[in-house]
Amino acid sequence: MYIDGHWISDRDTFTVFNPATGEKIGEVIDGNASDARSAIDAADRASATWSSTTAYERSQILYRTHQLMMKEQSALAELMTTEQGKPLKAANNEVKYAGDFLLWYAEEAKRIYGETIPSARADQRFLVHKQPVGVVAAITPWNYPISMITRKLAPALAAGCTVVLKPAESTPLCAVAVIKLLEEAGLPSGVVNLITGRDPQPIGDEFCTNPKVKKLTFTGSTAVGKALAQKCAPQLKRVSMELGGHAPFIVFDDADPVHAAKGVSLVKFLNTGQACISPNRIFVQRSLLEPFLNTLSQRVSALKAGNGLHPENSIGPLINERALEKVEKQVNDAIAKGAILHAGGSRETGDGLDAGFFYSATLLSNVNPEMIIYREETFGPVAAVIPFDNEDEVIDMANDTHYGLAAYIYTNNLSRGLRVFEQLNFGIIGVNDINPTSAAAPFGGMNESGLGREGAREGINEYLETKLGGFSI
Ligand code: ADP
Repeated sequence: MYIDGHWISDRDTFTVFNPATGEKIGEVIDGNASDARSAIDAADRASATWSSTTAYERSQILYRTHQLMMKEQSALAELMTTEQGKPLKAANNEVKYAGDFLLWYAEEAKRIYGETIPSARADQRFLVHKQPVGVVAAITPWNYPISMITRKLAPALAAGCTVVLKPAESTPLCAVAVIKLLEEAGLPSGVVNLITGRDPQPIGDEFCTNPKVKKLTFTGSTAVGKALAQKCAPQLKRVSMELGGHAPFIVFDDADPVHAAKGVSLVKFLNTGQACISPNRIFVQRSLLEPFLNTLSQRVSALKAGNGLHPENSIGPLINERALEKVEKQVNDAIAKGAILHAGGSRETGDGLDAGFFYSATLLSNVNPEMIIYREETFGPVAAVIPFDNEDEVIDMANDTHYGLAAYIYTNNLSRGLRVFEQLNFGIIGVNDINPTSAAAPFGGMNESGLGREGAREGINEYLETKLGGFSI
């Protein structure tokens, strides 16, 4: 843990394990609510000085952190694969993506513009001023253990906020590595503080109820996000929430089924399906089902599960036993209710995989609304294909969820692409595109997928207050 510029080491610890091998890879401090309080106090003390530094000074620290992160890219990627499980290539991509937020907000820090607004009164001037919200508490998940940290910290620091970070209990070592880079880049004491802990609830409760915390930013499950938002409500604390998704992937009959199947195979199995923008319901127009499934089943059968440190493996482990059981339950339920299994469908064992949480890349077709997988986010390597007959029907099916994060459309008809884009109730939509994300683009969900946006110009607004001055002259 890192509080007020000091690494805390004289406390009980908990163990961090490699999800591919079950091996112990490190120990971190088991922090509690009182540690969270000390960190909030430190962030509060640092706030006055940090918020009055120039945007140029804050920008320099973010630039330096970006440079250090890129210098350490391979080492950070290896740590990530060991702690979280994703294949090394994907881990390298994530470190690059994490660095993109540092760079983007190093630039954006200098563009926190206010406004003057004409008044109806000749003797009055309106001035709109932006200022940092103050102390920010950030809670981050394990699936993207470095980029989800920089996506919050970079805009918060650029805006002039100070931060207390609590990373996921499965991936605290990646968080420690990021904080070390900020420290090396010259971030003053107290501006960012790190609380690690085995039990997130008491730390989260302190974040939500301590009046010195002005804003909570959270990425994780919808259930936890809702509970945290409720705890923040009595103080009307500002919240940003990046929560679960249940992404539809719609393939229309005017698309190339082979190209679309390739797209699904690339995006669905990224991070072993453990992404909130992972396609969870793949709607394919009936006349394309056969060529689509032929290509997809070939590609899915070729995906090899195993330790992500070895380049031949593209399916890493799930994060823990609970995640594995959830996938098993969804697949078994679907098969029992009539889904057709084309590939995978079981836990991977033998060949050194027994101690890890491996599940084979799986393809199901004939999925219908009676099945759990049709309604619930899977967060695992399962592609679930559902047939449809026409455009209106598939728009209704796609929108029939309380989530609203990502969606994908494959069509070669421009009018249809635009029409469906406008009618889908999702915050991020890829049209013939499987990667509609970037530090330069606003990421976030509608409905129960969240509140607020991360990345882009919008991302910094989450950490700014608008102050209006009315001047009589
Ligand atoms: P998942 O189920 O995918 O692990 P969570 O929403 O449980 O997703 O975890 C995301 C983050 O939320 C992690 O940092 C975790 O420690 C934290 N978290 C989980 N439960 C709570 C809670 N009750 N209060 C505060 N933070 C929590």
